[in-house]
Amino acid sequence: MNTENRNFPARPPPSSSSPFASAPPPGVPPQSGGFASQPTRPFTPSGPPMAPPGGVMRPGQPPLVSQIPGSRPPPPPQPSSNSFPSPAYGPPGGGSFQRFPTPPSGPPPPTQTLAGHLSPPMSFRPQQPMAPVTMGPPPQSMTSGIPGGFASPPGPGFQQSMPPANPSYSGVGGGGPQPSYPGYPSNQVLQGPPKPFQSPSQGPPSAVSSYPPQTGGFGQHPGQQNLHPSYAPPTSNVQGLVEDFNSLSLSNIPGSLEPGLDHTSFPRPLDGDVEPSSFAEAYPMNCHSRYLRLTTSAIPNSQSLASRWHLPLGAVVCPLAEAPEGEEVPLIDFGSSGIIRCRRCRTYVNPYVAFTDSGRKWRCNICSMLNDVPGEYFSHLDATGRRMDMDQRPELTKGSVEIIAPTEYMVRPPMPPIYFFLIDVSFSATKSGMLEVATQTIKSCLDNLPGYPRTQIGFITYDSTLHFYNMKSSLSQPQMMVVSDLDDIFVPLPDDLLVNLSESRNVVEAFLDSLPLMFQDNANVESAFGPALKAAFMVMNQLGGKLLIFQNSLPSLGVGRLKLRGDDPRIYGTDKEYTLRVAEDTFYKQMAADCTKFQIGINVYAFSDKYTDIASLGTLAKYTGGQVYYYPGFQSSIHGDKLRHELARDLTRETAWESVMRIRCGKGIRFSSYHGNFMLRSTDLLALPAVDCDKAYAMQLTLEETLLTTPTVYFQVALLYTASCGERRIRVHTAVAPVVTDLGEMYRQADTGSIVSVYTRLAIEKTLSSKLDDARNVIQQKIVKALREYRNLHAVQHRLGSRLIYPESLKLLPLYGLGICKSTPLQGGPADASLDERCAAGFTMMALPVKKLLKLLYPSLFRVDEWLLKLSADIDDLKDVRRRLPLAAESLDSRGLYIYDDGFRLVLWFGRMLSPDIAKNLLGADFAAELSRVTLQEQQNGMSKKLMRLIKKVRENDPSYHPMCFLVRQGEQPREGFLLLRHLIEDQMGGSTSYVDWILQLHRQIQQNA
Ligand SMILES: [Zn+2]
Repeated sequence: MNTENRNFPARPPPSSSSPFASAPPPGVPPQSGGFASQPTRPFTPSGPPMAPPGGVMRPGQPPLVSQIPGSRPPPPPQPSSNSFPSPAYGPPGGGSFQRFPTPPSGPPPPTQTLAGHLSPPMSFRPQQPMAPVTMGPPPQSMTSGIPGGFASPPGPGFQQSMPPANPSYSGVGGGGPQPSYPGYPSNQVLQGPPKPFQSPSQGPPSAVSSYPPQTGGFGQHPGQQNLHPSYAPPTSNVQGLVEDFNSLSLSNIPGSLEPGLDHTSFPRPLDGDVEPSSFAEAYPMNCHSRYLRLTTSAIPNSQSLASRWHLPLGAVVCPLAEAPEGEEVPLIDFGSSGIIRCRRCRTYVNPYVAFTDSGRKWRCNICSMLNDVPGEYFSHLDATGRRMDMDQRPELTKGSVEIIAPTEYMVRPPMPPIYFFLIDVSFSATKSGMLEVATQTIKSCLDNLPGYPRTQIGFITYDSTLHFYNMKSSLSQPQMMVVSDLDDIFVPLPDDLLVNLSESRNVVEAFLDSLPLMFQDNANVESAFGPALKAAFMVMNQLGGKLLIFQNSLPSLGVGRLKLRGDDPRIYGTDKEYTLRVAEDTFYKQMAADCTKFQIGINVYAFSDKYTDIASLGTLAKYTGGQVYYYPGFQSSIHGDKLRHELARDLTRETAWESVMRIRCGKGIRFSSYHGNFMLRSTDLLALPAVDCDKAYAMQLTLEETLLTTPTVYFQVALLYTASCGERRIRVHTAVAPVVTDLGEMYRQADTGSIVSVYTRLAIEKTLSSKLDDARNVIQQKIVKALREYRNLHAVQHRLGSRLIYPESLKLLPLYGLGICKSTPLQGGPADASLDERCAAGFTMMALPVKKLLKLLYPSLFRVDEWLLKLSADIDDLKDVRRRLPLAAESLDSRGLYIYDDGFRLVLWFGRMLSPDIAKNLLGADFAAELSRVTLQEQQNGMSKKLMRLIKKVRENDPSYHPMCFLVRQGEQPREGFLLLRHLIEDQMGGSTSYVDWILQLHRQIQQNA
């Protein structure tokens, strides 16, 4: 298709040194299907790791960019009006092209350019030779042990035994809090007069009413405590421990329910995610659970015990989570003593190390090594063996600290924050308004990009050709250079494409103002995405940084072009099904691997209403620690706000650059697999070119020894990174957990949120190598196995009959398991979600922190009409308003107004019999219109203002994504089903299972072979 280089001057044959021509270097992730489901994917340095990207600019090369006087008819209609931002650049009618003149003042730039980018094809003729430009010194190695300390292996084994019990270890918490689950507020649900909707397939399960009331559903059942003999539960938790497990009476006759079971009392997370607190109470010096959440804070002491724990043994880590109010992470400078670390295992000094020998030595809590205390760090000990300076040493009292790293933690000067934009300017990108919203948003964020005055910025745009922009500060206007040879990508002016923002601010602003105008009439529908990506890599690979990609169509030209392999429903259910969900062209994984190596993190923004192969595009984000933002069928009038907010957050949130993360743990256990968006650089070092507070990672533990002999196990997460201010820092989170000999204690200390986070990631990974059905079955089987084991544990002491029992700590596991199976990446079949939607949701969910993920799996639904009517009600009583309801159609009263909120979308549901006054107040003149055509806007009345304040508050509470607000009226089909009903996960929809049936299925399977 691309004939644009027809008249391009002869160039030397492609250099064989092109980094892309060669076979993938070792350490590149396996090309064949599947993501990180295998335990480790070493990312080893290959050859001289920082070999300059050969073939980028070759000395003696003929001019690459040149002025093209009238090379293409018709000539520019307004040759005199050639200043960059002039609206006159909009090619009138027939589609002309832009001219970027030499600036009137300043030294002449090395190239004079005239760009043509519209079809029909253009050609280039050199006019004056361009001085050879070299790319500068090759970047230093990022692969050969970047972070001084991190590079060292954890020492030659652990020969010493662990010390006796840590003094701070006194016992383990009990059963934790007993969150209540209020069940259905009966006044509005069960007795709501009219049935909210009629579709028979969406009705609540008919068998619902037949549960036996006397069983009390999940009422408490006295059980024995099964505490580890050596533990004394904190007294505050004794009450909680009285309730060991709960029971639910169910018939075991397949397909039928015993009459009377009260499904309204099924457990539901109506209080949202409750962070595990028993852990924190028992170990107040542990880091907060939002940074590190173990799947159970009772570690099995033996492999045999671990094998009976059928749930995942592991953790979810969110290293840069926003600190809890008033618990900011202290910044520590060790100064002349240097950072205090264990010389064997490289653990950072933390609250659990023990000082001995009058303060001259300290014992590592992870490997037991006795280390010397440097003179500068010495302190006398008091009578209890506590350091006298304890109160001035946050690193000895706080579970989370941030340490300023000295130069030995750098292999090069800390990089500046770098934002590079790769923007599709083809027909659909401009037509949808994406280009305009994106450029406006970027411009509005320029003052708030982290890292002033060091921040750097640059842009490449593309359609069927690549467009580079010289942003040199001495220019008054940017210069555009077009490269149309897609087969042998080169970068003109490599030094001036990425510029210091504060120096080139005017040029950058002029560029952003002009870009939408320049391309407003662009009729080009091609996308040379792959070549553009390679070009961006060439510009960025000296320093790294964040690459934001705005892609509006399926890449169609050059390397990395993708086929319309489409969403073929016939493939579903076959062994080939998973192939749709993985990248087909190895180009994408290869580029991701290269980018990670050079500290480039990629975020993909995708906008098309047609198939764009998110499976392939998202690979770029996955392996570079990035994120996928998906706006299917983007229209600026509809999705503009969402893009504005999410892009602004992406650009302005605090970001950790060129990072690596490692989590250490005590002797006898190790982390064996990692799950999320990242690439492994060695067996246990996660390469994260850019990290922020919205990213979490899951990992699983393995016992390496048959028997653990220590009473506790320690964990330490260390994230070495460059802060936007230019400081190299290490964020350290430390926690301890008891080792137990009792399976019951493991269950009691289980954290459903963390387990669900690990399961979700495993299930999504499974969809990349198996059928959706298989992935869902795995989740079900895992839950069955765990609950069966739990049942067996208690079968001896209790006559269980046919009851389904489970530990209080896991009471929400079945429901969240159902939520996983009904989530976008796993749900149903081809008709239930488009392939791109599935893949985008999968990439997103792989990175979500626990709280956010749980909310997506079991969204909130709350009623607002009564609250709106209350004159006195204030926005401050939000907690009351947002009382969550069970996610079932039964919760909806047709006289009510409800908000559904999953953290990504808000749906405002208007009951058919809602008071017309409320509808008029909220919607104004549109109150009777079809709601698909109505946008919620503030009206001039108190009620409307109150609702808008509420929605604003909901969004502010969780700014990581900007939920769009959809309006739907009861009975507006299929819209109602699509927007809301299918997300009421407790109901049976189409082929999906209801909560009641799901519990029955689990129960039946648990009893088989019990
Ligand atoms: Zn150590």
